[in-house]
Amino acid sequence: KTPFQGVPGTKNERTFIAIKPDGTARGLIGEIIHRFERKGYKLVAIKILHPTKEQAEAHYADLSSKPFFNGLVKFFSSGAIVAMVWEGKGVIKGGRSLVGATDPAQSLPGSIRGDLCVEVGRNIVHGSDGPESAQHEIKLWFKENEFAEWNSIQPVYEN
Ligand code: UDP
Ligand code: MG
Repeated sequence: KTPFQGVPGTKNERTFIAIKPDGTARGLIGEIIHRFERKGYKLVAIKILHPTKEQAEAHYADLSSKPFFNGLVKFFSSGAIVAMVWEGKGVIKGGRSLVGATDPAQSLPGSIRGDLCVEVGRNIVHGSDGPESAQHEIKLWFKENEFAEWNSIQPVYEN
């Protein structure tokens, strides 16, 4: 059984992806999930919730000294988010590629941010930036009993 935080460097690598309040409000939940699903990643946990200010602060704790921190926390706790864990080979880096660069002015067409938003403070989606943050964020947002063990029949892997 895969540990719920995943095993980086294997097919059971896992990352934390969140659709932010602007993404849910804009009706982009399906669009964003679709991009991860069709790539071949596997959805192993998902929920919708309205984060508290404390949850937003904990999620973005690394950025607490930044000038945009208060606005970021206020925005992240202003509406519903979809919190997800996606699994697959290279999903942490690959998920960041699907998400695109932080500033939508820099993110390439084809990425979620490159295609769907224009402002850094309203960039609709979050993705863990490395193995440590992925494991930390998965544990921050999910409990072990919120994960589904299931088999995809898609032939994504050679074996
Ligand atoms: N952010 C912002 N202004 C900035 C930099 C970041 O409002 O100058 C917001 C932006 O929404 C970003 C989030 O803070 O997604 C977290 O910043 P980070 O550098 O971790 O970017 P990410 O990992 O989301 O690409
Ligand atoms: Mg980040």
